[in-house]
Amino acid sequence: MAEGARKDGLSTDVQYLKGVGPRAAMHLRKLGLETAEDVLWHFPRRMEDRSNLPPIMMCRPGYPATVRGRLTGVNTRPLRGGKVLLRATVDDGTGVIDLIWFNQPWVARDLNKVTGEIIAYGMVKEGRRGLEMSSAEWEAIDEDDEAEDFARIVPVYPLKEGVPQWAVRKAAHSAVEYFASQVKDPLPDSIRKKWKLPQLSWCLRQMHLPDSEDDRARARERLVFEEFLYLQLALQMLRSETKHEIGIAFPLDDLPDAGSTPSSLFGDDAEQAGSLEDQVHKMLPFDLTGAQKRVIDEIWSDMKMPAPMNRLVQGDVGSGKTAVAACAILGAVRCGYQAALMAPTEILAEQHAMGLRQLFEPLGIEVSLLVGKQTAAQKRKALQAAASGEARLCIGTHALIQEGVEFQNLGLVVIDEQHRFGVMQRAALRAKSDQHPDVLVMTATPIPRTLTMTFYGDLDLSVIDEMPPGRKPIKTHWKRPNQRDQVYDTVRSLIKEGRQAYFVCPMISESEKMQAQAAEDLYYRLKEGVYKDLRLGLLHGQMKGVEKDEVMTQFRNHELDILVSTVVIEVGVDVSNASVMVVEDAFRFGLSQLHQLRGRVGRGDDQSFCILISEAKTPDADQRLSIMARTSDGFEIAEEDLKLRGAGDIAGTRQSGRGDFRLADLIKDGVLLERARQAAMEIIEADPKLEKAGSDELVAAVKSRRSDMALATVS
Ligand code: ADP
Ligand code: MG
Repeated sequence: MAEGARKDGLSTDVQYLKGVGPRAAMHLRKLGLETAEDVLWHFPRRMEDRSNLPPIMMCRPGYPATVRGRLTGVNTRPLRGGKVLLRATVDDGTGVIDLIWFNQPWVARDLNKVTGEIIAYGMVKEGRRGLEMSSAEWEAIDEDDEAEDFARIVPVYPLKEGVPQWAVRKAAHSAVEYFASQVKDPLPDSIRKKWKLPQLSWCLRQMHLPDSEDDRARARERLVFEEFLYLQLALQMLRSETKHEIGIAFPLDDLPDAGSTPSSLFGDDAEQAGSLEDQVHKMLPFDLTGAQKRVIDEIWSDMKMPAPMNRLVQGDVGSGKTAVAACAILGAVRCGYQAALMAPTEILAEQHAMGLRQLFEPLGIEVSLLVGKQTAAQKRKALQAAASGEARLCIGTHALIQEGVEFQNLGLVVIDEQHRFGVMQRAALRAKSDQHPDVLVMTATPIPRTLTMTFYGDLDLSVIDEMPPGRKPIKTHWKRPNQRDQVYDTVRSLIKEGRQAYFVCPMISESEKMQAQAAEDLYYRLKEGVYKDLRLGLLHGQMKGVEKDEVMTQFRNHELDILVSTVVIEVGVDVSNASVMVVEDAFRFGLSQLHQLRGRVGRGDDQSFCILISEAKTPDADQRLSIMARTSDGFEIAEEDLKLRGAGDIAGTRQSGRGDFRLADLIKDGVLLERARQAAMEIIEADPKLEKAGSDELVAAVKSRRSDMALATVS
């Protein structure tokens, strides 16, 4: 080994690793690997057992296989649209298989350099000319390496274009042999013993050069656990800090009596007297479900405590989160505090304002609304009402967190549909109070438990797991475009019975303009075609606020039979007589988006229908549509969505800075996540600032997770 190497240990330049020369080092740098330590943490994607490769003759379509043989032809053929098809044939004496690539001309270049045999891995398919493998992973067999690499289990590393496997393999081998033992374990013995975690250096070795499949699995488990642990420790630390702040202890059991409070808070009515439960009972036009009652109790008992509440209420679309929020708000207002409710869109903020005014104004509680599209005069009035304390409940969009918005005595912050906001916006609204206000976050996004623990792990969780009574499950049907006429007939007959319908136009692009165009096209097609005699309205994001209002009001008042819309209705719109939804080109929508959309119907007593019109475009789309037709359980849909899309893509997770793990997989590693969360709770309970752990590395890792969270950008 070169001289400079030993001095630095883990920071040894890759170039000085045994068996790695300048050329290999150049390749390694392309992968971002500069030092021995980088290489140790660059894990194989999988292990390949080469001790017993099957002859090509034995390969079966539908199964992945590794094959080895000589290249007998490399052909590129131009396709329509400027694309190219590359076909390379591998022959091992027992049979042949074609390797196929679309539009990757550099692969041909690399294949043409091969003189000996190659090894290829991929899914075997039945092609028109026999067995095929598309976009196979492959490498040329290097005669020199034969003895070392062959006839054993080899790691297969993630690569970039042009970087050969052997370069990474050599570097990893040498990094493990010489440097793995120098890695310091950030987890102290105490934690490792308690949760039975193997040493870090052992794990690094097993990841690259496993003694057995079991050892590798154990190593991976420890590394995943560790990743989860840092994040969970950061979250539990945050949680424990809030718990030690002094917030407001709302005297909910012992409400200030009417005489001692300004009458404007209570109205003139003597009816307000009685316990908070009694007041809620009078305020709501329905009886709360058992789940709503339980969640409200959890909220109220948080509110009574001096520590600030930080609670997430999760409930499927239509489970009645608004009523739950109203009960929290009523409690805060009755104790003489203001409440603020922030919603992600203007339509939703307005809808909340309308619904909550109906509940609160009869009680003499003034509700104000602040949204971007208001006139300057309207805004001034809303700001004034918030600052003077005249408005007891202020509803708005993110306009609420802008500069210049002030409250007289904000005591409760409610955030609806949190996934559209970031951590920072939550904090910004909280900061509008001089005190530490209570915070309630409501989310309808069906997200699986693993994600809840990851993204809302600093919040206490309440789940509304029961729907209001009398709801009939929505019947969802998936129809092909050639059945469109039949669908239109069905909708017409439901409209004849007095129902209303939504038509959601295909989501053709991210652009609001294109979306608006698509909605208009569908609107005119229906209005001038099949539904000439019916009353149609149009709603899209490019319309002015007043125009949107007008259409929504007409639809709500049943002056329209059909509302043609873009996905702007996805969130919150609540018209209980609308019991049919038709989604055009449904394959273009994601699973949770379809679920949110579908939640707009099924809000009344009538049987509701959701009709998805779509071809089966891709296997993925096919699965999404089948799942929609099969279940309306938000959590089941969430799990399926996570499986289909992966965690990073679930709405809003990217913005949170909590979704990036090196190894951990939120779909497969749920059990480890639970364990790590449990461990983090125990550790923080006993040692809230991690002072007793005796590991600077541990503290640093947790700190860096915390700053990732704080810096998380917001969409
Ligand atoms: P979400 O959880 O999707 O925000 P909402 O709060 O908008 O749901 O409630 C959906 C509908 O159900 C509303 O029309 C609401 O008035 C009604 N609702 C809520 N709770 C009950 C209940 N306990 N009984 C009957 N209807 C209810
Ligand atoms: Mg809601």
